[in-house]
Amino acid sequence: MFRLLSFHAHPDDESSKGAATVAKYVDAGVRAVLVTATGGEAGDILNPAMDRPEIVADLAAVRRRELDEAAAIIGYDEVIMLGYRDSGMPGSEDNARDDAFTNANDEEVLGRLVQIVRRERPHVILGYDAHERYPHPDHLAVHRHGLELFAAAADGSLFRDAGEAWAVSKLYAPVFTVRRLTALHNAMINRGEESPYGEWIDGIDADGDAGKRLTAIEVSATLGRGRDALRAHRTQVDPDGSWFQIPDDLVLATYPYEDLELLASRVPVEPTETSLFAGISTS
Ligand SMILES: [Zn+2]
Repeated sequence: MFRLLSFHAHPDDESSKGAATVAKYVDAGVRAVLVTATGGEAGDILNPAMDRPEIVADLAAVRRRELDEAAAIIGYDEVIMLGYRDSGMPGSEDNARDDAFTNANDEEVLGRLVQIVRRERPHVILGYDAHERYPHPDHLAVHRHGLELFAAAADGSLFRDAGEAWAVSKLYAPVFTVRRLTALHNAMINRGEESPYGEWIDGIDADGDAGKRLTAIEVSATLGRGRDALRAHRTQVDPDGSWFQIPDDLVLATYPYEDLELLASRVPVEPTETSLFAGISTS
């Protein structure tokens, strides 16, 4: 049986990045564990219907409930909160707090992650790419810690009290590729609808996918569950917003895949693999 560990910055990231992929593997019998670094305390309420005083006053608890609901929809076996505070954007009050994820001691964060990995022994980790488009400090931290974690968990000379060394086979990052954006954008236009990606496409580097080791995971069967998980984040996601403007039937007909970028691997990788677990043995 394969095991997968996802590492995310905030509640809702697990649903907007790679959710249908994780759901697909859960359905195939893979054990999936979600590690979320922060409680999303600094995020704005992006759904006007949820912007109410009693929700604002209790936001961390509300977001934890939303996360649990989303994780159950995706099918995660366990949710582990690291308990750091959302760092907010640079220059904000949230960003200056001692308990912000971005201000946490790097060794401490890495040690905790190594302990989780050595206990769970995942074959694959989903982390973040370099996030050039959305340089949220917590997302950049997940990117950096993910790469460090891939190396450190396997090195028995590091974090000796954190359990027996475990070599994760592959580290991926769910990504929004130019090929996917372009395909869905064009399909909306061809259908005579307004594309929610217009501005994004205008500013995009057409060669942005070049040089990346990309894997497309076919997610027709679980696409709807990924969307339902995102909808469970009622305070973070506007049901009338851009996430939901592209109808499922158009996605299924046009690009029924989630793209992931391979950031690191300890096993040989074929140029066109179709599974995150390709090339990995459980023995
Ligand atoms: Zn986030």
